[in-house]
Amino acid sequence: MSLWLAATGVSRGIAIGRVHRLLGAELDIPEYHIAQPDIANEVRRFRAALEVARHQLDSIRNQIPANAPAEIGAFIDTHLLMTQDNALVEGVARLIHQQQCNAERALKIQQHRLADVFEHMNDRYLRSRADDIAQVTARIQRILLNQERRLETRADEHPLPAVIVADELTPADLILLHQQGVAAFVTEHGGPLSHSAILARSLRIPALAGLHAPRRLLLDDETVIIDGDAGHLLAEPADSALEFYRHRQKRDRRYRRMLSMLRDDIARSTDGVRVYLRANVELAADSADAAHLGAEGIGLYRTEFLYLNRDDTPSEEEQLAVYRRILQSVAGPVTIRTLDLGADKTIPSQTGRTSSNPALGLRAIRLCLREPELFRTQLRALLRASVDGDLRIMLPMISNIGELRQTRHLIAELMAELDREGLHYKPQLPVGAMIEVPAAALAAPSLAPYCDFFSLGTNDLIQYTLAMDRIDDEINYLYDPLHPAVLQLIRTTIAAGAANGIPVAMCGEMAADKRYTALLLGMGLTEFSMHPASLLEVKRTIMQSNVGQLRQRMNDILALTDPTAYREALATLAAHRDE
Ligand code: PEP
Ligand code: MG
Repeated sequence: MSLWLAATGVSRGIAIGRVHRLLGAELDIPEYHIAQPDIANEVRRFRAALEVARHQLDSIRNQIPANAPAEIGAFIDTHLLMTQDNALVEGVARLIHQQQCNAERALKIQQHRLADVFEHMNDRYLRSRADDIAQVTARIQRILLNQERRLETRADEHPLPAVIVADELTPADLILLHQQGVAAFVTEHGGPLSHSAILARSLRIPALAGLHAPRRLLLDDETVIIDGDAGHLLAEPADSALEFYRHRQKRDRRYRRMLSMLRDDIARSTDGVRVYLRANVELAADSADAAHLGAEGIGLYRTEFLYLNRDDTPSEEEQLAVYRRILQSVAGPVTIRTLDLGADKTIPSQTGRTSSNPALGLRAIRLCLREPELFRTQLRALLRASVDGDLRIMLPMISNIGELRQTRHLIAELMAELDREGLHYKPQLPVGAMIEVPAAALAAPSLAPYCDFFSLGTNDLIQYTLAMDRIDDEINYLYDPLHPAVLQLIRTTIAAGAANGIPVAMCGEMAADKRYTALLLGMGLTEFSMHPASLLEVKRTIMQSNVGQLRQRMNDILALTDPTAYREALATLAAHRDE
């Protein structure tokens, strides 16, 4: 009998495969005594496993798709560094000697000791290092125990590719399994904004998260259909269901081929409205991929990744070189966001600070204004780079006019400083604000005179409007871009931009989802910035839309007060095509 299970679709697409359940994250660690003469051998066994782990991580590093966010590479690098770290490597070797125990047990003891140190730190980022240690230790233990998260090659026995079913998967697991050709991922934990979900989307592998106890509900080798679009799983499907989904898979493949032909087309609606599609990038190197997929410039360059995973902060010259490279290599505007540190992204100078609620604490522009030296260095580098291309400076998490005034004042001061030093910059450099705090959206009409542009950061705007922590998978279900409050804030921002003659873009994940494209066009948005992987399908939707008609319908929809009628009207709008 077929079994239908609902979950959250975190990476779209259809997969048909056989269940392959992975061992739980918890390993059964054997503990035994090693006789004195065998100690050296045990240490050698440990070092050999360490070597294998390094090779695995190296190979994972090389397989990261070019369009994957920079955090993924940084995540693997952290694990690689840990396999070389003395505290772990020599600490374990010492324990094997001192306690005359097997390597697996020594690893377990050392992991607990190190995790204990990290877990008592106030800083959230450093606390999360304890998870990294656990993951690296588990990797080495699996190698020692010959229980790796590997698929047996059973192609001859089973013609279907594997659908991985696990409690949870790290980005490193995902890459390793991807190399082995899996069809889809299903996990109990995680949500759409987790690193693994972001990676699954970059790898274009369908994935579901939030399925309760999947390893108990499903059996190995059972045939399953994964629908990443609708967010469900069908086990032991009937022939008719298989036929239906095979047909959809074929249609999806044809669709992707067709999309690739739109690369050089201009994004224009059927009634002639020109729309600009830009890319979100985290590393200067990602910009090549963006151009290849037809992005017209960069709408969001997240500079905090220059600051993470290091002990010092990047100097003005180092930043200047990075900004220059990106400006020189990209045709079109390059919107560089100033540091958005704090909350889940912190650097060493912040580690002493605690905040009872980091997402509402000293984050982004607040932190930069509090630490002017940090901010000055970045702004000077940006000003100096401005002569190399079409630079725009974007300020994150603006919530009041004071922050804009202070920043503008600082920029003017730095311009005068550069004049005195005989260094060049563009005096008319556009400076804009991210609108990602509800207060900023509501006050957009009064912020607009201080800004050259707005960019809607819907990831945070939705988190703050709906009071849902964006990285807490327990409440992911509350993430709702269509909530009337969210749409109202977006509309207010776009209207304020239009009234003040400044462009309004959107660079949050909402801009990358074609289900919202018609709606956003209807609200008057003409500049979208997104992960390059989604660019062509959003372009296609734009090219099939009649913006004039959408605007009219949007006005009617936003006036609806009945929630069912409202949702239904939005669903019809999403299906709008000007045939
Ligand atoms: C946003 O908040 O929507 C955004 C684009 O910025 P980030 O995801 O980096 O917070
Ligand atoms: Mg944000």
